[in-house]
Amino acid sequence: MLYFQLFISLAGICSTGLMLLMLFTSLHEKRKKAATKALYIIPFTLVFSSIPFLMPESLNWLIISLSVVIISATCYLLLPRFMFSTKKEEFAQGNIDERTIMFARKELKPDTERFDQYYTDHPEHKESDRNFRKLPGLLSPQSTFYNPIAYQASDAIFKIVDGLHPFVDGPVGSKIQDISTNDYADFITKWTLKSGAVTVGFTSMKKYHWYSVGGRGERYGKPVDQSHQVGIAFTVEMDQEMVEAAPKSSIIMESASQYLQAGIIATQLAQFIRNMGFEARAHIDGNYGVVAPLVARDANLGEIGRMGLLMTPELGPRVRVGVVTTNLPLTVNKREYDDSYDDFCEKCLKCAENCPAAAIPKEDKREINSVKRWQIDSERCFNYWCTAGTDCGRCMSTCPYSHPNNLLHNMVRWSIRSFPNFRYWAVKMDDFFYGRKSTPGKIPDWMRISGKQ
Ligand code: SF4
Ligand code: SF4
Repeated sequence: MLYFQLFISLAGICSTGLMLLMLFTSLHEKRKKAATKALYIIPFTLVFSSIPFLMPESLNWLIISLSVVIISATCYLLLPRFMFSTKKEEFAQGNIDERTIMFARKELKPDTERFDQYYTDHPEHKESDRNFRKLPGLLSPQSTFYNPIAYQASDAIFKIVDGLHPFVDGPVGSKIQDISTNDYADFITKWTLKSGAVTVGFTSMKKYHWYSVGGRGERYGKPVDQSHQVGIAFTVEMDQEMVEAAPKSSIIMESASQYLQAGIIATQLAQFIRNMGFEARAHIDGNYGVVAPLVARDANLGEIGRMGLLMTPELGPRVRVGVVTTNLPLTVNKREYDDSYDDFCEKCLKCAENCPAAAIPKEDKREINSVKRWQIDSERCFNYWCTAGTDCGRCMSTCPYSHPNNLLHNMVRWSIRSFPNFRYWAVKMDDFFYGRKSTPGKIPDWMRISGKQ
């Protein structure tokens, strides 16, 4: 009997420990509601841990039954993933014409030949694009979340990102340096991490990584050079507090900052590789030849989630992705598909329920161009951006995978990946502590000006 009593007591102590961890983590993250809930639970877990020694002997059967229930539930939750069938990965076929994406369509000027030609070729976009052209637009003073300081700061950062465009490509050094590809890979990885990236990976470039035809600026209508065989992908972190307030103005300022950070890392890396005698092209905000999340996925940096963003093991979708393509023959990472993200997204749906534009599908994946996947409604999403004035990011901020990189959340993310039966309960716990319909946080104090969000 003593063993059963000790077991129940230990279960109570472990629960108390977890709630204390939740309490301190939430306080540190300024999540008051989550901290309060953890605080309320702690007395119950303490009572639970002492109950076995306070109960009369006549209730020993209850202690034994409770122990059996706890052991069974724990075994069920912690069944390892190899005991479950693995989903198969499906790859996209063909490639996208960049002219069809929203940012390229936004740049089309009415009453120009290019504008008329585009809508002659794509009459299906005419009506929806007419709608977003009537809206205030990104960083507009008429938009919902107008904040003069944050908007001007974002505009300043985006201008610097534009200033990097001339450096994405350039002449190649005449002499190839005699350095082993392993040394190159090692140096590139360490330098990229030192420059501020969270993760780095290499992949061999596939047809579906590339845009078929350029869609922005001088690249409009020109075929994309797809000759590079290797893609170097990396992620940079979006600040939690700035993202938390999405879709308020801090999100677009943070997006701009991390596009800049990714742009600096990518352009310096591409320039370095060219200096060493190899071709290299950086793919940065406003100047992509590739679909960056797909390159990053195949470089083993994460998986594509329901909201269409790269979901990383460390920070979920709370990252920006940078890519450099090159003919430097680096050894690429072997792709290891992780189906836990797909499975978790099937159970979660939190982004879809919190999307203010209802742009994220709530249904199962459906077949698009011969591949089963989720596809967001980019017109609805972009229309919301043009009303809000920011790039929204509500999906990113509500995703249970986006929590900060610390002991508590890393434990949960690891358990989600490792134990399929735990995933359903992870969603429920996230709903309980953070709310199913979460409300946007406040923009950080340091960027507040009176009356502005
Ligand atoms: S960015 Fe906003 S509008 Fe777009 S899909 Fe995410 S939540 Fe929806
Ligand atoms: S919020 Fe949920 S459903 Fe959406 S991407 Fe994140 S884990 Fe997947």
